[in-house]
Amino acid sequence: MSFFVETLVVGGGLAGASAALGLARTGQSVALIDENGFASGASGSGAGLVSPMMSRKGRPVWKAREALDALGLPETGLLRPASSPEQAAYFEQSTDQSPDLGVWMNAEAAAKAFPYCRAPFGLVRVLRGCSVDLADLTKSWIHESASHGAFLGEHVGLVSWRSDDAGVRVLLSSGEEWNVGRVVLATGPGLIDHPETQDLNLHPIKGQRIRVKKPADWYDHMLPLSGSGFVLDEGKSLSIGATFEHEWTESGPTDEGRRELIELASHMVPEIAEMEVIEHTSGIRITVPGTRMPMIGPLPTHPHIWVFTGLGSKGILMSALLGMKIPQFFNDISLIPASCRVANRKSKA
Ligand SMILES: Cc1cc2nc3c(=O)[nH]c(=O)nc-3n(C[C@H](O)[C@H](O)[C@H](O)COP(=O)(O)OP(=O)(O)OC[C@H]3O[C@@H](n4cnc5c(N)ncnc54)[C@H](O)[C@@H]3O)c2cc1C
Repeated sequence: MSFFVETLVVGGGLAGASAALGLARTGQSVALIDENGFASGASGSGAGLVSPMMSRKGRPVWKAREALDALGLPETGLLRPASSPEQAAYFEQSTDQSPDLGVWMNAEAAAKAFPYCRAPFGLVRVLRGCSVDLADLTKSWIHESASHGAFLGEHVGLVSWRSDDAGVRVLLSSGEEWNVGRVVLATGPGLIDHPETQDLNLHPIKGQRIRVKKPADWYDHMLPLSGSGFVLDEGKSLSIGATFEHEWTESGPTDEGRRELIELASHMVPEIAEMEVIEHTSGIRITVPGTRMPMIGPLPTHPHIWVFTGLGSKGILMSALLGMKIPQFFNDISLIPASCRVANRKSKA
């Protein structure tokens, strides 16, 4: 086979964009395609939170510091109000153990320093992290990968592939057929019902978000707020997310979702209940049940076909961490963290 590119990355969301960038930066020949346009899936859903202390107990996210360093964005930090005295106790413990990531503040100190955020049980002033527009970040990685020589095919879909010992023959929606050395499927929900990947241990979770108009006399600048949901200051509006829906009949935004988001956000900023909703969107994120870790690596039956998915609600951190490492994983698959390896639903590989 003569190769057009060594690696074809399919899906221009955070996963595919980070993989393409990781490969292009190391001088490898790579093409990135997306059938709907870059950042048109979950990675186009609006402002996103980057938090190293996201869990219920405020424990550090897996490899949080390494992921933040890989991301390399300016970090404002954020606020994590406790929702109960029990959670406050966990947060205090967590900040004691990770003082580089967060500082505990009691309710009085928090109210004085951050009057826009209701925190009757105190809060963690998370010292690292930020908010960033998911689509802007994805597109900046794609742009950078092109500047390193990646070939981009926007509105080009992967229709089918056939792999053998030598590589992969792909059919694209443009009608072209390419010979490539390897394919990385970063197609998000597209993996769930594809015959070759439908048995992977993946689970879709619907998420909704709303955007509300900031009143003219509202605080100029709020730090990102992270509770059961998040509230992110976008200048003239606040972005509020996100629902976690394991089952749904309606794939788009719903009234119930809007009510739930307002309810979640009002715990942190009661005034949000009075603000005008100016946008309401939804998306699907993919998680790995059991581990809640990303999934990356070759399919057991097709060594030239890789998947990169399962970024869940930590898409920004996990793509920055793992996508950029994909060249190393190509060289030596034993470098893929055990908890991130490709596994089927029933038998874990
Ligand atoms: C409401 C909501 C809020 C979120 N908030 C945050 C947050 O605050 N912080 C955070 O870190 N993460 C957040 N996430 C999660 C994050 O958005 C996801 O983890 C991440 O975007 C997933 O990226 P992906 O590349 O795996 O998938 P996607 O972004 O869905 O990309 C998949 C791409 O594949 C393309 N595709 C599919 N099939 C084909 C094909 N056959 N050929 C070519 N292209 C194809 C699609 O068009 C799509 O562009 C949120 C998600 C949602 C839904």
